[in-house]
Amino acid sequence: MTRCIALVVAAGRGTRLGGRLPKQYLPLGGVRLLRHTLSALRHHPRIEALRAVIHPDDRALYDEAAAGLELLPPVPGGAERQDSVRTGLESLAELAPDHVLIHDGARPFVDAGLIDRVLDALTARAGAIPALPVTDTVKRGAAGIIAETVDRAALWRAQTPQGFRFADILAAHRAAAGRQLSDDAAVAEQAGFAVALVPGSEDNFKVTTMDDLARAERHLASRLGDVRTGQGFDVHAFGPGDRVWLCGVAVPHNQGLVGHSDADVGLHALTDALLGAIGAGDIGMHFPPSDPRWRGAASDRFLRHAADLVAARRGIIAHVDVTLICERPKIGPHRAAMAARIAEILAIGRDRVSIKATTTEGLGFTGRGEGIAAQALATVRLPLPGG
Ligand code: MG
Repeated sequence: MTRCIALVVAAGRGTRLGGRLPKQYLPLGGVRLLRHTLSALRHHPRIEALRAVIHPDDRALYDEAAAGLELLPPVPGGAERQDSVRTGLESLAELAPDHVLIHDGARPFVDAGLIDRVLDALTARAGAIPALPVTDTVKRGAAGIIAETVDRAALWRAQTPQGFRFADILAAHRAAAGRQLSDDAAVAEQAGFAVALVPGSEDNFKVTTMDDLARAERHLASRLGDVRTGQGFDVHAFGPGDRVWLCGVAVPHNQGLVGHSDADVGLHALTDALLGAIGAGDIGMHFPPSDPRWRGAASDRFLRHAADLVAARRGIIAHVDVTLICERPKIGPHRAAMAARIAEILAIGRDRVSIKATTTEGLGFTGRGEGIAAQALATVRLPLPGG
C-alpha cells in the first residue's frame, strides 16, 4: 500500500486580516481556522500522518488548534514559504513516505474527493495539483490601461494540496533552495518533471482577506446545517477522599466521589451529551466499567474521544452547557477554571462552554449530601448530506 504523509504549511505571519493573529489562527465557526484544515486532512483514510510547519512564536496557538488530533510534532518554518516547505520535507525524510501532499494551512475546506483526485493522479505522474480553469476574460494591463487580452484557454488557477512523489520533490526543493518560486509545482517544474492538473474545487479557496474570512463563515454555516442536540446525565456517590473531580478540575472537599474512573460527573454527563448528539451510544459502550483500562482513568480522555467522533464526521461542537447539582462543594469559585478546562479538552472557545450549578434545596440524595448529579447539553453541527 502506498504511504502518503501530508505537510501543512502554516508558518506565515500574514496578519493583514486586521487582527493581531496570523490568519490561520483566526476563529472560524468557533474554532481556529487551522483546525478545520488539519482535521480535514487527518481524517482522510489515505493519509497516514500529518505534520504542520509553524512559526516558533505560534506554538501555543498551534497546540490549541491541534488539541486532540493525532499529528506528528510540528516543525518550525523558515523565512519564506519555500524555506518552510523544504524544512518540513527534510523533517519527513526519515519517515520516507512514497507520496507527500503539501497544503496551505489557510485552505480549510479541502474535501476528500479532491484529495483522492490528487492521489489517484500520482500513480501515473511524479506530481499532481488541483486547479480550476480561468473563466473571466484575462487582461494584461499597464498604468491602468489594457495592453492586451490574454488567451485564457490554457490558463489554470493552482490550488493545494499539491501531491508529489516524496523523494522527487525533496530533491527538487533542495536544488531550488534560495530561489523564490511561487508554489511547489513551480519547484517541480524547475526540476523538469511532469505535474498533472486535476479538477480543483471552488470551495477550496484560500483565506487571505477579511472578505475571504466572511465567505468562509458563510460556507461553514451552510455546509454544517445539520444541527443536533444531545443530553447527558450522571451521578456519583460521595466516599472517602479529600477532593472531587468536577469538569476536569480537582476541587478540594472533605470527601471524594466513588467511581471506576476518576468519577467526574460533569465530564461523564457531557461525554454522553456529545455522544447523544451524534447518535453514537453512551459512555459505557465506549468505555465499559468492566474494562480494567479505565480504572482511575482521567475522564478528559472520554470527553476527547467523543469530540474526536464529532470531528471524524467533519462536524463541529457549537456549544456545551453543564449543570452540576449538589449542596457542597461550592462550584462558583471553580466555574471559570472548569469552563477553561472543558474548552481546552474540546478545542473550542470558552464562550462556547457554560457551567452552571444548583442545589435541590435539601431534597433527595443530592440534598442529603450523598452524592453529586450532573446534567449536560451539547449542540453539534454536522455536514448536510453531500456537504
Ligand atoms: Mg459516571
